[in-house]
Parts: sequence; C-alpha cells; structure tokens
Amino acid sequence: MARSSLSRLAWRPLGLLLCLSLCAPPLATAQLPSLGGGEGMTLGAERRLGDQIARELYRDPDYLDDPVLQAYVEDIWLSLMQAARSRGELSPDQDERFAWEVVLGRDRQVNAFALPGGYMGVYLGLIAVVANRDELASVLGHELSHITQRHISRLMSKEGQQTPLMIAALILAALAASKSPDAASALMVGGQALTLQNQLRFSRDMEREADRVGYGVMTQAGYDGQGFVTMFDKLQQASRLNDNGAYPYLRSHPLTTERIADMQARQQLKDVGPVPTTLEHSLIAARARALSSSNIDQQRQWVAEPDAAGFAALPVNRQAGVLYTAALAARQLRDYPRARQWAIRLQDKVRGNPEAQRLQTWLLCEIDLAAGRPETAARLPLSTQGPRPALFLAVQGRLAQGVSAEVEAAAETLQTWVTLRPHDASAWQMMAAAWRAVGKPLRALRAEAEAQVAHFDYSAAMDRFKAAQDMVRRGGEAGADHVEASIIDTRAREVGLLLREQSAQR
Ligand SMILES: [Zn+2]
Repeated sequence: MARSSLSRLAWRPLGLLLCLSLCAPPLATAQLPSLGGGEGMTLGAERRLGDQIARELYRDPDYLDDPVLQAYVEDIWLSLMQAARSRGELSPDQDERFAWEVVLGRDRQVNAFALPGGYMGVYLGLIAVVANRDELASVLGHELSHITQRHISRLMSKEGQQTPLMIAALILAALAASKSPDAASALMVGGQALTLQNQLRFSRDMEREADRVGYGVMTQAGYDGQGFVTMFDKLQQASRLNDNGAYPYLRSHPLTTERIADMQARQQLKDVGPVPTTLEHSLIAARARALSSSNIDQQRQWVAEPDAAGFAALPVNRQAGVLYTAALAARQLRDYPRARQWAIRLQDKVRGNPEAQRLQTWLLCEIDLAAGRPETAARLPLSTQGPRPALFLAVQGRLAQGVSAEVEAAAETLQTWVTLRPHDASAWQMMAAAWRAVGKPLRALRAEAEAQVAHFDYSAAMDRFKAAQDMVRRGGEAGADHVEASIIDTRAREVGLLLREQSAQR
C-alpha cells in the first residue's frame, strides 16, 4: 500500500475516510436497485449531504476564494441558472432549497464537478484552458444539468444502505483520488476502488441528457453553442496527446463518438468555426494559470516571457494574457517593480475595453497592496453596488492605510454587504479585521464566528461566540455594547442547535 502517497492528499477528512473505508462492508454492486425506478434522495437530504461535502472542501488548503475568478465564473453560472429557470429545467423547489455555490479549487487539472445540493466545484485548470466564456458555459451548463435533472440524487439513491456521512466520504475520496490517482489504491481496500468509481459514475443516458439540456440552457443564456463543440474538440485532442489522467474531466465524462455526433448535429446549421477569445477572457485565463502554480521556476519563466523574442508578433489578446500572467507571477515572487512594470504595460493593451481595463486596475491595486502602496486600492470607492473584487480591494486598501474613520466606514460597508450575502465568509473575515483595527473586538469576534458558520464549521463558530460572551461578562468597553452582546447570545443559541444537528448526523 502506497502510504507515502497519503501525505499528498490534501483532503482533511483523510483519517475518517480511511477508517470508514476499512470498517464499512464492501458495497455489493450486484444488489443495487436499478437506476430508473428510484425517486432518489429528497431535496433536503441532498442539500444536507452537499453541505457536509462543502464543509470539507472549504477546509481544504486548495480551496481558493479568489474574488476575481469567483466573480467571473459566478456570472456565467448565474446566467445559466436564469436560463434553466425560464426553460422550466430548474424547479422552484430546487431553486430555493439548494446552495447554488461555486467552489474554486487551486488545481491545474481541467475539471469541474457537480456535487449534491447544488454545489459546483471548478478547478483553475479548467478556467485556464478554455478559450472563451462559451466553452466555460458549455461545461458549467452540462454540470448544472446533472444537478437539475436530479442525476446526482439518483446516483446517491443507489447508496441506499449508506449513511450520508459515508456517501460524503465516498465522494471526497473520489475527488481526492482524481487529484492523486495512485492514492486511490491506498484509500480503497480490496474491490472498493472499482466499486466506488462505478457507483459515482453517471450513466451514458445521463451524460447524453446533460449534453442535451446543457446545450439548451447555455444557448438560451446567450452563449454560442459552438463552445460545446470546440470544448469537445479540445478535450478529445488533449486525451490523444495525454492519457495520463491530466484531464480527469474526461474520465468522469467519456467522450463517446455518439456524444460528439449528437452535439455536431445540434450545431450543424450554425457551423461558423471556433468562437474567438475576448480580451477579458484572456486575462481571466492568465490569472487562473498564474494562481494554479506555486512552482518558482515556472513563475520565473512567466515573468521573463514578455521579454522573449516573438512576444511582439503575438496577437494582442495573447500579449495581454502573457503580461497579466507575468505581472501576477512577479507579485508572487515579490518582485514588485517588475510586477508593476508588466501591469502598467498591460494598460496599453486594454485601453478602450472596459471589462479588461477593470481587470488591469484590480491587478495593479493587488500588486501595490502587496508592495506596501495601499493608496492605489484605497482610491476605489467603498460600495456594495459594484463588483465584489472592487469592494474587497477598497477595504484592503483602507485597512492597510489604517485611518480609523476610513476603516470604520469599510467595516460598516461590509456589514451591509453581508446582510445581503450572509454566506460570504471572506467578507466576514475582512470585517473582523476592520472591527479589530478600530478597537471593537466584540464585533470582530462575532464576524469571525459568522465566517465559520458560512462554511458550516459550527464548532469553530461556537468557540468564537463563547469567547465573545466571556468578553461581555468581563465587562469593560466590550461589555457596554449591549446590542452586539444580545445579537451574539441569539446567534450562539441558533448555531448551538445547528451544531447539535450536525453532530447527530454523524
Ligand atoms: Zn457529465
């Protein structure tokens, strides 16, 4: 058994997985009920299962809340959901009860996966490799359709004998195994590895349905259906070149000639060649590329790329992407003068293109923040109306400058933001830092607690609530904040109940 490979697994519940895999009776494939007949899990049960899985994903070191990439993917995701709604693919019940959250993973693999309860995992490798929004929308539309068509719940119902925790563990193990294929054999005992793969695989009919529904949803949302065809081409080419598991999306979604033929038939009247990339997408893909690698040699290579012969001959979108990756890589290497130099050179390439200009501005703010020049980010307005990356940069700029009135204004703005978006853990965390900076530790503790609640870590949240209650008991200035103290008591009771429910599910 390859013990050494275990340490490479990033998933925290590893001990749990091993324990359950060893203790649970082998799953007997032959005795499973057939797929067609079952109703599947209830929406509520599927959502609870999804929350359990999401909780582990949020704890994973590879989990990444990058506001820029998150906003880009979410924008596509929300437009697809809207289309699914208007086509009647997404039932009001499911709409309301599922999470519909995109969870990004800092992984170079080209992969995206629908999880129970409306969670959607997307690896940076996918964002880096797609040529435009349309290709990304084709993958997300396909995955969304696995969710709306209740394919996941039907797969899960095959696990009828298993507890939700066991199913969550199986899914996490499958994800871990897809990241590190040789670890699969270490995790799974006997025939379980194979059984697991079979259990969690969508049937061919499900794949065809997800293609058909996904195509309808993405074209209705205004994306070019050609993105579906070029994405298939891309994956197929990649599988020819490279069959070592670097494209796990293929393993879970085998490209049968049948699926490709179906898709070409859908598109045949509109065969207009590949959809061109946009300047904005080139920068987004460049960001995903830069953030998915922590390899220093690779980053150095990227930093040098704009100087290389041949750069000038590249099309402008490519030049912009190369400059963006170079600037971000230089920032990661803490070579701030170089990072700035490339970010400023990027300015010429994005002029006249508002989406790309915005990305360049945020990049420069980010570099200057790291370089100890917070004034660039602090110039951005504090507004809950604009995009999330801009708000976060505006807050970080003010926090770094440390002018009390400004930091307090930042905390208040975030307060408004989280009232509308209580699941935004990063906003709660930033708010905690802002309240602490202006000497309001009670509010800071509550914000920290809410950040944990947003990621379903109720036990960590209770620790913060208790610390806050202790602080109130000790009196002093914190004890005088009666309104906050009463909110904390109420929230501590509510979260205490959630914690008990969570423990009872185990
Ligand atoms: Zn699929």
